[in-house]
Amino acid sequence: LERAKKVLAAGVSSEFRKYNHPHALFYTHGKGSKIYDVDGNEYLDFTLSQGPLILGHSHPEVLEAVHQESLQGQLYAGQHAKEIELAEKLQAIIPAAELMRFCLDGSEAVQTALRVARAKTGKQKFLRFEGHYHGWLDNVCFGISSPSPEAMGPRESPQMHPWTQGLPDGAKEESFLLPWNDLDLVKQHVAKHHQEMAAIITEPVMCNNGCIPPKEGFLQGLRALCSDYGIALIFDEVITGFRLGLGGAQAFFGVKPDMAVFAKAIGSGYPISAIVGKKEWMEEISTARVIHAGTMNTGNPTVAAALATISILERENPYPAMFALGERLRQGLRKIAKETGHQLLVSGIGPVVHTGFTSQEKAVDFRDVLQFDTTKLKTFVSRLHDRGLRVIGRGLWYISAVHTEEEIDQALGLAREVLTAQDI
Ligand code: PMP
Repeated sequence: LERAKKVLAAGVSSEFRKYNHPHALFYTHGKGSKIYDVDGNEYLDFTLSQGPLILGHSHPEVLEAVHQESLQGQLYAGQHAKEIELAEKLQAIIPAAELMRFCLDGSEAVQTALRVARAKTGKQKFLRFEGHYHGWLDNVCFGISSPSPEAMGPRESPQMHPWTQGLPDGAKEESFLLPWNDLDLVKQHVAKHHQEMAAIITEPVMCNNGCIPPKEGFLQGLRALCSDYGIALIFDEVITGFRLGLGGAQAFFGVKPDMAVFAKAIGSGYPISAIVGKKEWMEEISTARVIHAGTMNTGNPTVAAALATISILERENPYPAMFALGERLRQGLRKIAKETGHQLLVSGIGPVVHTGFTSQEKAVDFRDVLQFDTTKLKTFVSRLHDRGLRVIGRGLWYISAVHTEEEIDQALGLAREVLTAQDI
């Protein structure tokens, strides 16, 4: 850590800073479902490097595809045939993907989608939801903090998170921020402000603060509102994309947004993201009203990683197994919590599992998540870590295609040990 601080601002990753792990953690490598630290310790990994590694660490077929493609040169910032092949694949599997462009990460793709929405509608503002995260670029990195108690009604000006220091003032005022899952409130707000509203952007499953699926009819309701008022509906599928199935949450829930952003899992950890959408929206890029650029975008080796990932997921269809493992983990954790007398809310969807300490039986929006006991969660997560199990600091567990039933049971055994201790 001392060495790191001399060369890296803060010395540690943002995960460490945000969730304040008790130890600074430095890793050497990962393989399959495991990662290893500088002291040679092995960890069963449910972070998947914050999600991308849907096929686990270093899947040999993905590595080989990247290697072989790299031997063909590195064709960045230009057209190459593999890019078309990938776009054709995504067009076939993602419902809203009539046209698309590729970027390097989720933030960049979200930013582009918002620009498209502004260009086509001629309107400026976005409606977004409390507790949702859409990346760290200027237009979207705000409003992620807790609502203050006096602001429990709808607000038009997001409360700033400390990280947003340094953003342009204009960026702070450009969105309406509402609680998630409250369709009536959204309806009222849209009716009042639609003339200024370019887009509604949402994670189709709220995954960055807790893991909360949409209420029945909520996404459909957003769809109808956006169609009625000429507003872009943007699904941020950075987490749900390829995780709930190859077609993302839009295929899973049967709701077609105007645009969507896929990142993380689509390249198995290689930097590639996609902004996909209906032709009439994406044409803003075709007509060059919206710029799409980036020297390092759409390189053939990263495109090869995405193609290999899709080919493996299509061939092996790990989804039923991943969903079953997710359910096994959720049920096992609930049972252990009951037996050890802990108020642990275990939620999630398919291969995404969330653990939060709270007496609530259900969480429907970020305001519920704010009631969670973060001190207790921190103790839980760090004690799991001490026993060789890694989960994301905010209580999120990602299951990959290479996790096994035995590993879920091993994880449950460790969770039982931690929750049985007297002092948690
Ligand atoms: N949207 C969502 C829903 C995310 O979870 C994230 C990253 N956690 C982003 C956007 C930003 O993606 P990236 O970190 O690849 O820029």
